[in-house]
Amino acid sequence: MNQNFAPENAGTLTKRVLIIGGGFAGLECARRLSNDDRFEVTLIDRTNHHLFQPLLYQVATASLAAPDIARSLRQILMKASNVTVLMDEITDLSPVERRAEGQSGGTYEYDYLFLAAGVQTSFFGRPEWKAHTLGLKTLAEAQSVRRRVLSNLEKAELTNCDEDRRRLMTVAIAGGGPTGVELAGAFTDLVHRSLRDDFRRIDTSKLRVVLLEGSDRLLGSFGKKQSEYALKRLKELGVEIHTGTMVADVTEGCVHLADGSTVEAAAIIWAAGTEANPLTSKLGVPLADQAGRITPEEDLSIRGFPEIFVGGDLACLTDSQDKPVPGVAPAATQMGRHVAKVLKEESRLEKTRFREKKLKLRPRFRYFDKGIMAIVGKNAAVVLSGKWALTGFIAWLAWLFIHILFLVGFRNKLSVLLGWAFAYVRDAPDTRIIVNRPD
Ligand SMILES: Cc1cc2nc3c(=O)[nH]c(=O)nc-3n(C[C@H](O)[C@H](O)[C@H](O)COP(=O)(O)OP(=O)(O)OC[C@H]3O[C@@H](n4cnc5c(N)ncnc54)[C@H](O)[C@@H]3O)c2cc1C
Repeated sequence: MNQNFAPENAGTLTKRVLIIGGGFAGLECARRLSNDDRFEVTLIDRTNHHLFQPLLYQVATASLAAPDIARSLRQILMKASNVTVLMDEITDLSPVERRAEGQSGGTYEYDYLFLAAGVQTSFFGRPEWKAHTLGLKTLAEAQSVRRRVLSNLEKAELTNCDEDRRRLMTVAIAGGGPTGVELAGAFTDLVHRSLRDDFRRIDTSKLRVVLLEGSDRLLGSFGKKQSEYALKRLKELGVEIHTGTMVADVTEGCVHLADGSTVEAAAIIWAAGTEANPLTSKLGVPLADQAGRITPEEDLSIRGFPEIFVGGDLACLTDSQDKPVPGVAPAATQMGRHVAKVLKEESRLEKTRFREKKLKLRPRFRYFDKGIMAIVGKNAAVVLSGKWALTGFIAWLAWLFIHILFLVGFRNKLSVLLGWAFAYVRDAPDTRIIVNRPD
């Protein structure tokens, strides 16, 4: 198939805006430009949904169902008459020709491009580790984690071999950042509470959850006291924690640590690093770091191409205090909003005597730090927001409130809220079905 996707009114005053990625940054930009007839917006994503990644770990640990944390992009933008949603994977960019190419064979021309394709799992230059590990960036990956862990418990129930059972009942998590900590806490909840009475031959509370962190503390982006709190809390929940130990190698069913020790596990989850979407390398501008991110100009456009903007996790920025802007949803949302603001302002200036100066007059992006948070098992979380450093139950309530607030779609909010309430009272999530054949 070779289609040329250029909206019918191309060539008129209407500007064609191409947004790659329907995550937090891309979706926010599309929403802000919606029903503004100065723009003909095309939003392209390789999936058909917007994904609320902060709750992925709950799908992985059988607390929530996949549809609870994702929503069809078409449905979200149904009423945005100037926005066209297409499901395609962009494979190439031609900045000079102002064109993007999709896996479908389609080519997409634009007046403005917003690249918001996020990041992907990285393996410290050891791509072969991918075959032996499970990632946690997409819904499919979260479902694979759940399937693997639940299948392993079923296999452990069947086997008579103690050694096999030990391996099947070990989950190793590489990466002691928020994702690793949240996963570890949730796995202990799953086996100590939810699955407690489900099996006859195995004791699910014996599931060994091993959390591996290369630096000397968990949750490195939080305060020291919060790291200590998370460590203590996870230990109380029975998580085995190794800090200050780098992963040296990963082979089938085994993590080899730099200190010479090994962890044999039938489920190895990789939450230790990310790198920018490879599309950043197609823009022909220098990359900011080894992760392949791009440092844009202050208006979020890239040097030499004022019509191309980057935002979200793949942008490498510092805030007004020279601190790195973290790869979190609020930062991505703010960048998406900013790009829409720049485009609207530019369109307005077109009709004024300032039209020649419109590039110079572009507003600068300013990151407003709303803080970071991570949940550490049931009833406990850590929140760092400005001078506020909360731990424990209050932080947990704040975590619940914020996540419900920012989840997209009323149905999703209601479904998640009911799921949580049910799981809290009954300790029994309903999403432990293994749909596909066990791995
Ligand atoms: C497990 C996990 C937990 C997290 N927890 C939190 C949290 O608690 N709080 C918080 O604030 N942040 C959290 N984050 C980070 C947050 O989700 C990201 O910062 C945010 O999603 C970044 O938004 P984005 O728009 O840059 O990218 P994304 O949301 O990743 O969106 C990128 C989109 O681009 C699409 N795409 C990628 N490549 C292509 C292509 N070639 N063609 C077409 N489409 C493409 C993808 O399908 C995706 O929809 C978490 C992330 C993960 C993975």
